[in-house]
Amino acid sequence: TEAHLSAIAGARGLNAFITETPDRARAMAKASDERLARGEAGALEGIPLGIKDLYCTEGVRTTAGSHILGNFVPPYESTITKQLWRDGAVMLGKLNLDEFAMGSSNETSHFGPVTSPWRKRGGNASLVPGGSSGGSAAAVAARLCLGATATDTGGSIRQPAAFTGTVGIKPTYGRCSRFGVVAFASSLDQAGPIARTVRDAAILMRSMAGYDPNDSTSANLPVPDYEASVGRSVAGKVIGIPKEYRLDGMPAEIEALWQQGIAWLKEAGAEIRDISLPHTKYALPAYYIVAPAEASSNLARYDGVRYGLRVPGKDIADLYGKTRAEGFGKEVRRRVMIGTYVLSAGYYDAFYVKAQKIRTLIKRDFETVYAEGVDAILTPATPSAAFAIGEKGSGNPVEMYLNDIFTVTVNMAGLPGIAVPAGTSTEGLPLGLQLIGRPFDEDTLFSLGEVME
Ligand code: GLN
Repeated sequence: TEAHLSAIAGARGLNAFITETPDRARAMAKASDERLARGEAGALEGIPLGIKDLYCTEGVRTTAGSHILGNFVPPYESTITKQLWRDGAVMLGKLNLDEFAMGSSNETSHFGPVTSPWRKRGGNASLVPGGSSGGSAAAVAARLCLGATATDTGGSIRQPAAFTGTVGIKPTYGRCSRFGVVAFASSLDQAGPIARTVRDAAILMRSMAGYDPNDSTSANLPVPDYEASVGRSVAGKVIGIPKEYRLDGMPAEIEALWQQGIAWLKEAGAEIRDISLPHTKYALPAYYIVAPAEASSNLARYDGVRYGLRVPGKDIADLYGKTRAEGFGKEVRRRVMIGTYVLSAGYYDAFYVKAQKIRTLIKRDFETVYAEGVDAILTPATPSAAFAIGEKGSGNPVEMYLNDIFTVTVNMAGLPGIAVPAGTSTEGLPLGLQLIGRPFDEDTLFSLGEVME
């Protein structure tokens, strides 16, 4: 814990943490030492972690990367962090993120962008760590913590993991409790870990997963010993390669990485099969209707009355308006406007209902290939390596949204997906591959992921 606290103090330039909690970390580490001395070690005893600042932590400010929650101190603890502390983990602090987890570069945070610890070979430009779990990915990559919690609504665990050479898994929808995790798009949000290795991710997942009566969408299923899947043979596993993910103009290095992944899995005894997921091309536009729709509804609670920022007004409506105008950043306001538009009478059928129908078709694409015996699907995690801060999306938000092209289908279908570091770009940056699994079969992803890392 002391080593990590000094690493954090020496790396403030990365802006990975919004709130550091050294006193709490030391107290937790001390309690850990005492349990260890009594021979009562938990599965994560004494392991220092960073917590994405979207997880409510009792008595510790939880901002969601937003000005509107800049002074919010939750009176309760999220289920996941409760489970991590139950198993002996130590909290180092709260990690930076895109505002309300809306973004792919961590540049929408009210608390400023996070800088990746990576640089292009021979280059000096500050790169994004990806988003929205940019603080989590940067902190793990820069060795500021041994692991971190993250969340993934459309790729926010897998894309930053791929950009920083770390491992990130988005579990099946319902595998981890969402209780106490600030909501973005409730039918897509899932919590999961970012870690240095597949094994570390498996160990963290075991503590994070599990049924929670406080989350009505939580799955009442036993949690397997994920670590036991790491190193298990993958001989005979059928790996689907979806032709729709082979994009026109995909960089040669991404195509080469994909081929390398195929070769590794073949060598390990897996069977490679060409598959089709025909509705893939509709996933991104449908996601950018469903996610803002749910976000606009979830964010209605930030009105300056119950908690968070309050900007006084001449009457209650004026107070609402002023609080939300000042409290929300540009990207969040854009999402709220898109969301309220697609949900409004007259447009609801044309946009929201259409997008939900597309969602069903996307889900069926996966069900069909899984019914035909495919165990997992291999794709690139991102269409490129990390880009520079300020390079994308400033004039055209769609440019940023395109970064989620390989990840959003997984959330739309509620499936598990893992990103593992698998290679290096010609400029020396990490590149990741993604494996998509059957519902609640994270085990197979850990076995296959370990073959490639
Ligand atoms: N980049 C996507 C978005 O901005 C996904 C974010 C996420 O997974 N939280 O909506």
